[in-house]
Amino acid sequence: MTLPLLQDLRKIFKNDTGRVFIYPSSGTGAWEAAISNTLNLGDRVLMSRFGQFSHLWVDMAKRLGLDVVSVDVEWGQGVPLDAYQQDLQRDPSIKAVFATHNETATGVSSDIAGVRRAMNAAASDALLFVDGVSSIASIDFQQEGWGVDLAVTGSQKGLMMPAGLSMLGVSAKALDAAKSATMERCYFDFADMIATNNAGYFPYTPPVQLLHGLRASLDLLFEESLPHVFARHRRLAEGVRRGVQALGLDLYAVAPEWYSDTVSAIRVPDGIDGAEVCRIGFERYRTPFGAGLSQVAGKVFRIGHLGDLNEVMCLSALASAEMSLADAGAKIDLGAGTAAAQDYYRRALSPTNPEP
Ligand code: PLP
Repeated sequence: MTLPLLQDLRKIFKNDTGRVFIYPSSGTGAWEAAISNTLNLGDRVLMSRFGQFSHLWVDMAKRLGLDVVSVDVEWGQGVPLDAYQQDLQRDPSIKAVFATHNETATGVSSDIAGVRRAMNAAASDALLFVDGVSSIASIDFQQEGWGVDLAVTGSQKGLMMPAGLSMLGVSAKALDAAKSATMERCYFDFADMIATNNAGYFPYTPPVQLLHGLRASLDLLFEESLPHVFARHRRLAEGVRRGVQALGLDLYAVAPEWYSDTVSAIRVPDGIDGAEVCRIGFERYRTPFGAGLSQVAGKVFRIGHLGDLNEVMCLSALASAEMSLADAGAKIDLGAGTAAAQDYYRRALSPTNPEP
């Protein structure tokens, strides 16, 4: 079972010449595996923070003993390409560049090909680390094409599974770096994984039930085909965005270039508590909206639109959001959001529409 899983995951990461490791951990474990296998204590690394998850990766890098140059970006935007290029030009000692592809807390997607271009423009030979937890297998991701050295994901988002597996795509360059990197590691050691994975085994008891789940998930993705999976996410997201707009609400992402096709963080109107919207949604209408985290607690609620999802499920989320917002005291035109999304989905799915 293991060898075909590892092979097939490389198709998901679009990683032809490196490897993919599967760890029995949540995504956070693969963050740590990526760092501890390829870097040395005190290495200078370039990161950016614009939401709770990019913030937590910075926190981990500091706690593991890296010398972090962290660019703080206004939440609602993403990886700052110009600042990255300038920092890399100014400081050739930077050993690694980190980017959160999709910041789940704010619904912001960043341009990873652009990060690679900024690194090339600065003639940087740093390793590129990308958090693809809420992007890989849902929106386009090209590990090899974008020169990503370490790409992290988890089982509970685009792979449509329960939490419990993380996957780490590793480039040939990063595999090489691991041979001489001196940071302490044991459970996550690439060398142990390589020695056992090559024979189809793991260096410890694997969670076989989750591996069966991963098999089913990969089969579903290949059956639909990745281009169609990405198109579906774009379409689902666009319907939700039109619904949000029709309700007179704004996304937390400040401009369309940052809009995420996997999650929308929606600003609640002034005077309305986002936590209350989530509470009502969950308790009254059995809809688990994502709550606002940290800096955006109470200011947003989130609709996740990734994974095993279709248009009608998004419509139910919008309908529940309308009711929850109205019950929380917002002046909402009940039905306006769902009507706008219905209109969009009908046109997008019409047989005369040439888009997939
Ligand atoms: N990175 C992003 C973008 C996430 O959305 C999450 C979790 O939602 C994580 C990292 C952490 O992953 P996990 O909770 O699986 O450890």
